[in-house]
Amino acid sequence: MGLVKKEHEILHMRRAGKVVGDVLRKMRELVRPGVTTLELDETAERMIRNEGGVPAFKGYRVPGIPSPFPGTLCVSINEEIVHGIPTKERVVQEGDIVSIDVGVELEGYFGDAACTYGAGEVSPLRKKLMRVTLDSLHAALSVARSGKTLGDIGHAVETVVLSENFGLVRNYAGHGIGKKLHEFPQVPNYGKPHTGVTLKSGMTIAIEPMVMTGGEEVLAKDDRWTVVTADGSDAAHFEHSVLICEEGVEVLTPWEE
Ligand code: MG
Repeated sequence: MGLVKKEHEILHMRRAGKVVGDVLRKMRELVRPGVTTLELDETAERMIRNEGGVPAFKGYRVPGIPSPFPGTLCVSINEEIVHGIPTKERVVQEGDIVSIDVGVELEGYFGDAACTYGAGEVSPLRKKLMRVTLDSLHAALSVARSGKTLGDIGHAVETVVLSENFGLVRNYAGHGIGKKLHEFPQVPNYGKPHTGVTLKSGMTIAIEPMVMTGGEEVLAKDDRWTVVTADGSDAAHFEHSVLICEEGVEVLTPWEE
């Protein structure tokens, strides 16, 4: 299945992932009221190309959507969940929560991660949403290791999210990653313990919970790319690409430090 990476492949993936982490740490500085989503996008693209990388989402095509994705980043604000298109018209406002997803191809390998940032003073509910979504990612990271299953990972995410009465995005999932941005297997954010694909040392997957304060129904906006909550509630998204090891995971996209 080509799931288990060789040591030299992991070296490339660490380098791609480091660029992803660097971009997301930079975004933490730049997401402020008044910045446009295109400014964020241009900074990210410059950083990636300076490292010899290529923005992995730019030009990405999905069956059923006529135009390729135009940005380096997906920037999704408030009720937007994922795949928001950066534009010069979209200005970040005080109190917004801004989800930024970035993919990098470097030396033939991919890294992919996402983080949600608050702009200025954010409401208590939005803060809680961000904390719970990040907690659900950490719960998944803490169970993932060789011998565990994808069901164990999904169950860990789902348990955290549902215990807070938030909604979970079920139509979109994490994924294997490596020589392609999206590889087998899909990594759902829900599941039953001890079911699904068994993880092995050397597998590389992206885990990415998407959570909303309201119901679980989602819609696409008129641009066809941007996915929003159907009820207009807020959404958050956190993601890491990780290497599965015997005793746990190695985070390949270190944006938290
Ligand atoms: Mg991803």
